[in-house]
Amino acid sequence: MKYYILFGPPGAGKGTQATAMVEKYNLHHISTGALLRKEIAAGTELGLQAKALIEQGCLVPDEVVEGMIENEFKTVSGVEGFLLDGFPRTLPQAEALDQILAKTSEKVTATVSIMIPDEMIMERIKGRALKEGRADDASEDIINNRIATYHNQTEPLIEYYNNAGTYNEIDGVGTIEEVQERIFTVMDKF
Ligand code: AMP
Repeated sequence: MKYYILFGPPGAGKGTQATAMVEKYNLHHISTGALLRKEIAAGTELGLQAKALIEQGCLVPDEVVEGMIENEFKTVSGVEGFLLDGFPRTLPQAEALDQILAKTSEKVTATVSIMIPDEMIMERIKGRALKEGRADDASEDIINNRIATYHNQTEPLIEYYNNAGTYNEIDGVGTIEEVQERIFTVMDKF
């Protein structure tokens, strides 16, 4: 099995690019954000706990998303691998992922990082808000909190995956097709 991490700040285009990636490389897409939004929509206990945190632009507890990821690995088959979108987002999550994979003697195949400058994050998320209506895209304060959360808690993963030798950075500025082409050039190597 291959395990790809789709990395990048909020609004970098991870969700948009994931669709083409899973199709071309026969992967199962796991978006922890989408899984959490599903729990909220279904009104589950987990969803209720996650809702307040998500709507403030904060992260949900590591154990919650780690459990979701392990469950998907166990229940999905018939694919070449997995595309993790929005996970890991903290160093403990990255370490937990390594431990989960080590149980079956597997490792992260590659980290594909889509980078855009901070100025572009706000603009992209505001554009998405008009189309998708996500509660956490609704206010500048919440978006700013997510940008800060990204810099403080998620950005250290760049060094973690650089040290592991799996980090591949892609320029996320350009059209969807241009960015997709850059991603495919990297993915074709694995
Ligand atoms: P996303 O759809 O990836 O932008 O995620 C939306 C929100 O869900 C985030 O702002 C977090 O509140 C929560 N979330 C998604 N993935 C994670 C994760 N790996 N760890 C903690 N919180 C997460």
